[in-house]
Amino acid sequence: MIVMKFGGTSVANFEAITRTIFIVGGKLDQKPIVVVSALSKVTDALYKISDAAASRDKALTAELIDQLRQRHYNLVRELLEHSPALQQEALGKVGEICDSLESLANAICAVGELSDRNKAIIISNGELLSSTIICYAMNSKGIKTHFIDARKMMITSDSYLKGEPILEEITSRVPKIVEQAYEGAAAVITQGFIGSNLQGEQTVLGRGGSDYSASLIGMAVDAERIEIWTDVDGVRSADPRRVANTKYLEKISFEEAAEMAHFGAKVLHPLTIEPAVKKNIPLYVLNSMNPSGKGTAILQSEYIEDGVKSVSFKENIRVINIFSMRMINTSGFLRRVFEIFSENKVSVDLISTSEANISVTVDASEKIDKVVQQLSEFADVIVDDDKSQVSVIGKNIVRLNGMLKKTFAPLKKCNVYMISQGASFVNISFVVDREELNDVVNQLHYHLFENPDAEVM
Ligand code: ADP
Ligand code: ASP
Ligand code: MG
Repeated sequence: MIVMKFGGTSVANFEAITRTIFIVGGKLDQKPIVVVSALSKVTDALYKISDAAASRDKALTAELIDQLRQRHYNLVRELLEHSPALQQEALGKVGEICDSLESLANAICAVGELSDRNKAIIISNGELLSSTIICYAMNSKGIKTHFIDARKMMITSDSYLKGEPILEEITSRVPKIVEQAYEGAAAVITQGFIGSNLQGEQTVLGRGGSDYSASLIGMAVDAERIEIWTDVDGVRSADPRRVANTKYLEKISFEEAAEMAHFGAKVLHPLTIEPAVKKNIPLYVLNSMNPSGKGTAILQSEYIEDGVKSVSFKENIRVINIFSMRMINTSGFLRRVFEIFSENKVSVDLISTSEANISVTVDASEKIDKVVQQLSEFADVIVDDDKSQVSVIGKNIVRLNGMLKKTFAPLKKCNVYMISQGASFVNISFVVDREELNDVVNQLHYHLFENPDAEVM
């Protein structure tokens, strides 16, 4: 059995879905579990719908829902042009999903209040729509495909918008459900991103979570491989949207991929690697627009060479500097500091400490007001905004001769605020001003990948 996950651009429209079905059709002998995201930009649109409804903007809410409905209706008409009966059925299902979205949005408009629970219901519709339509389209092309509702198997905590998967539930449910669905079928299809809590209420895994769903399903069925189909030829040495001459990476280790994803490479959801590692299942990142390409294999470390693989970054972060003389020679200070972060569910990326100071970085989207307030009760706190975090990632780079020099030499002219070297030996990270990010990433990439022998000016 294999898992094949197709992201938003791989299911964006008629052409993309036709390609995707062709790719799946070529692998039926491997028993694919197809996991799909919402059509490209649909989750963003659903967020806008929930905002419009919460601010009681009836006209905008109605307009956005209508656009969403028409986009999906048109897609059904195109994909099922030659199967009128299936087309009618699919239009009916799409209509039902859009109707229930509309009535919930109207109810929210009426009260002007949006709970996380209702927001999760709204944003889960993208995957429900895409998987419904693609299931019909696969059947119309002669691939007998059965539909699985991910909410029956992707069980999470109660956190509606960022549900944490409950592994025991998932591993006990998924194999049975998949096996049943496979009866009489050539393929099965389900949704990424969405799940439910133990009470059966809708939850989602957080933005970009379909990769994570695919990996969890792969873990649960002991898949031979997990394929993440997207719009680039595999994992590259940097974000191709930011750096011009990125290099294709044929294979990287689980650790390298996990660090890249955690430290900003948006090609994979940060938690994707974890479930795959548990069962040692290889992951492949592949391009649905170039399906004959080899993609990137993500494998156990022993198959991977030492050396620098990537420059990743997080564009908008904050540095929280905590100063206290009480830190010197007292035990329990660090515990107290990190308890505050943990209680407020603020996740910390980099940490560096000196005698009377701790600096940490957090994503700018984290709500830190309470953390700062509580820390200020026993320490001086200074928050630096508009910073970016850059990470050089590669197996054993921390041990390689001259790596620190190579990393920092091209940065002569800019301020570096914090440096952190991961204990895992795969990551050197530092913080710069956000306005310097572009230059820093490009310079660094040039010296590490494009022209390693170039003189640093
Ligand atoms: P999907 O919708 O298929 O999940 P995403 O947009 O989430 O696709 O992820 C693919 C995108 O990730 C690529 O288009 C690319 O711009 C971006 N990306 C960021 N860093 C990297 C990297 N190191 N290698 C490849 N792609 C990257
Ligand atoms: N559709 C969801 C999102 O846009 C999940 C995903 O695409 O991975 O965040
Ligand atoms: Mg993605």
